[in-house]
Amino acid sequence: MKTAYIVSTGTELLLGNTMDTNSEYLSRELSAMGFKVIGRATVGDNRDMIKSALRTGYELADLVVCTGGLGPTLDDLSREAAAEVLNLPLMHSEPEMERIRDYFARRRREMPESNRKQAMFPAGARILANPVGTASGFMVSHNGKTLVMLPGPPREMETIFKESLKPLLRDLIQDSGRVVLTRTIKTMGLGESQVESLLEDVIADPRGCSIALLAKDGEVHIRVTGDGVTDSGTRSILDSVIERMKDSLGDNIYGEGGDTLPGVVVRLLRDKGCTVAFAESCTGGMVAKMLTDIPGSSAVFWGGVVSYSNEAKTRILGVSDETLKRYGAVSPETAREMARGMRNLARSTFGISLTGIAGPEGGTPEKPVGLVYLGMATAEGEETRELRLMGGRGGIRTLAAKTALDWLRRTLERK
Ligand code: ATP
Repeated sequence: MKTAYIVSTGTELLLGNTMDTNSEYLSRELSAMGFKVIGRATVGDNRDMIKSALRTGYELADLVVCTGGLGPTLDDLSREAAAEVLNLPLMHSEPEMERIRDYFARRRREMPESNRKQAMFPAGARILANPVGTASGFMVSHNGKTLVMLPGPPREMETIFKESLKPLLRDLIQDSGRVVLTRTIKTMGLGESQVESLLEDVIADPRGCSIALLAKDGEVHIRVTGDGVTDSGTRSILDSVIERMKDSLGDNIYGEGGDTLPGVVVRLLRDKGCTVAFAESCTGGMVAKMLTDIPGSSAVFWGGVVSYSNEAKTRILGVSDETLKRYGAVSPETAREMARGMRNLARSTFGISLTGIAGPEGGTPEKPVGLVYLGMATAEGEETRELRLMGGRGGIRTLAAKTALDWLRRTLERK
């Protein structure tokens, strides 16, 4: 498997002012293409530090991708650092100079003298033209090793990556005579260790594939990478490993690849001709936000009620005072009446409610922080579920919202 090393440059990254999203993007993209990312370095705008990071990457990996520092100003040093590490002179490229002049002309702006240096590239480098900015990237391959330099602004970096670099890197992988394919399946509702133990047999015998688990916000993603000689051979091994995983994980799997939980829920609602409305207390509209993030959700999502106060629960949803007094706002009884009230109001197939204690205050020994009740009303009646969630206020709310969506997903899949 070809290896890759990522270098991001920029003092603002070290100060913590700017999130290093470029490295994350590159890690994701390169891994998905079949590179094994073996390391990353972040360095400031310092020529020696950039050179040292590039040298380390060049020594350790087949491919080094570096972002940032290709701009026109004095603190943009990556171009010079790369030329020195490669031991190549910087040469002027007239077509690039033209392109940069044109970039300014089209914006009716004078080109500053300092932008001239952006038309300089190490001798023999392949220029990766920047269609959305002045700093083009470049790529140099030598003795089976490849160094790629890209500009820092994420939009420019990603555009160049997608439009010109990706096809070149694909050739690089294919030239190695190996085919690397990945598939990712996504689960919701199980912890990482539960997933691992359910997959025990597959992990013990992965038929040459590598398996990686990634846990986030109640989800566990399982990425399987197969590495073989032919496309069809690698694909069939990968498929067989995924099939065995599906058998073990069953309906804990909500999707694959680019699927998202709210996206899958919207698709299922549409496929089954159903609609839903949510009555949200502790999540304050998070479920509504997640669903309305999905284009086309208006066909299946009626809307919702943020019934945060007891008064909103009684006046909008018709929860009885008696129930609130006797059992409290965080109780299965209230969740049940909220769901029923929501469904009656919306005349939807499903009315779903969430009520809980997100903390940090408000917990008691009987009703601790993280206790959440979900209610689901359908034509057949109501059901409730009790959740005991861990995490800070944000984590508990996110988990509650996603668990409610997942409950709906599982219900729809059985329909
Ligand atoms: P340009 O000439 O277009 O500025 P450049 O290659 O010189 O290109 P930088 O000056 O390094 O780019 O960065 C430009 C912008 O991109 C800055 O706003 C910076 O915060 C952002 N940026 C740089 N590196 C990263 C990164 N790794 N992740 C996220 N943002 C980044």
